[in-house]
Amino acid sequence: MRHIAIIGSGPAGYYTAEAAAKHWGDDVRVDVFDTLPVPYGLIRTGVAPDHQSIKGVSRRYEKTALTDNVRFVGNVTVGQDITIPELQELYDAVVLATGAPNDRELGMEGESLANVFGSAAFVGWYNGHPQFADLAPDLSGKHAVVIGMGNVALDVARILSKTETEFAGSDIVGHALGLLRASKLEKITILGRRGPHQVAMTPKELGELLHLERATPRVDTEDLPDEAEDAILEPGARKSVTHLRSFAAIPESVHADAKIEIYFDLYASPTAMQGDGKVATVEVERTTVEKGRAIGTGEMYSVPADLVVSCIGYRTSPIPDVPFDQRAGRFANDEGRILTGLYCVGWARRGPTGTIGTNRPDGYGMIEKIAEDADGGLLGSGRKAGREGFDALAAARNLDVVTFSDWKKIEEAEAAAARDGAPREKFVDIEAMIAARGS
Ligand code: NAP
Repeated sequence: MRHIAIIGSGPAGYYTAEAAAKHWGDDVRVDVFDTLPVPYGLIRTGVAPDHQSIKGVSRRYEKTALTDNVRFVGNVTVGQDITIPELQELYDAVVLATGAPNDRELGMEGESLANVFGSAAFVGWYNGHPQFADLAPDLSGKHAVVIGMGNVALDVARILSKTETEFAGSDIVGHALGLLRASKLEKITILGRRGPHQVAMTPKELGELLHLERATPRVDTEDLPDEAEDAILEPGARKSVTHLRSFAAIPESVHADAKIEIYFDLYASPTAMQGDGKVATVEVERTTVEKGRAIGTGEMYSVPADLVVSCIGYRTSPIPDVPFDQRAGRFANDEGRILTGLYCVGWARRGPTGTIGTNRPDGYGMIEKIAEDADGGLLGSGRKAGREGFDALAAARNLDVVTFSDWKKIEEAEAAAARDGAPREKFVDIEAMIAARGS
């Protein structure tokens, strides 16, 4: 029997569990750990609440979770409740699938002013992550600045723009809906330090901006290169630029009718934030792009900013006893191998890139490597104590483990509390989640 511990119950964790169950069938037992009492990581607290079809992938993870050889071990913090060396004593392989839950910092003056947030915190707030439930951003100003030209920046700009009716069918949490309902925002400036050919936003997500009830996207025509130059782009990037061109062609009359403008400020590199306690402006340097790199031109200007959300990427949380690559912000690894018997997958391995689906080949590839190591005798004889050993340790330490059937009760309570038309109203507090499993 092979015993595998997977740390993290998001997409990388569950695809790896699925792959292990396919590979070893009845000869494997997989425990999927999570700090939270609820599963699915990024699917629950990262994917935008108005993108329910993407969140639907959790049904596939549930199928894996409900098999006899895979179990969910919630409310257990690895590195705190149990150490990595302890897990390695119990399991043949330990796979870190902990994602990248911390914001990368801009490292600029003014970043700690009030109403400046990183996207992990801001997205966590509107998605009900317990760590960020109390964020309470002030949305009473007219101007928001979103830094970065990736899909997270788009998510944030779109969520800030939507009306209450546009959130019908979403699972945005009540505390966020309440503040958004009262929002006074009129302009959202998305700052991109490079040009249209370098935007990391994908076409489908950009296209959504054309269908917002009260917001319209704006791009300055002079920021667009000659159309012929788009020929060098990959098809996806070309489609994204085509969207930016269509935004630039939106007539003034449409902008005049819109309540909120989503302005793409391209070739715009933020250099500092200013304000008296609370952010008021972002200082920006105009750039040109040479050989794909943003080069400052020395031309400076200020963008009004009552709220700033920086969406420039994420870092993995270090875990005691695990080598960490500080510069890259993820575990130090060689194609997923960290130390003998210790592996990483997903964003914890490769950094915060790719879609949910990218984690599938990642998880399957990891299991092939673990199988290779097991077949090569690197992981011992397959006689470790596995889940029984963990259960004994959890009992000795009085750990309050939340199981998958507990989660199903929490899920039921969330569905019962949902607004009309919404799939759920999430618990945003760990105690409330645990209480909802009943006795
Ligand atoms: P991302 O795609 O890597 O975009 C990060 C953006 O931040 C880039 O535009 C980058 O500009 C900019 N940036 C980085 N450092 C900066 C700095 N110091 N100053 C100004 N700008 C800076 O990351 P993400 O948006 O966080 O998304 C993470 C991953 O999740 C991506 O793979 C994304 O596609 C995926 N995702 C997908 C969806 C979806 O499919 N619906 C939704 C959300 C996220 P440069 O390019 O110049 O470095």
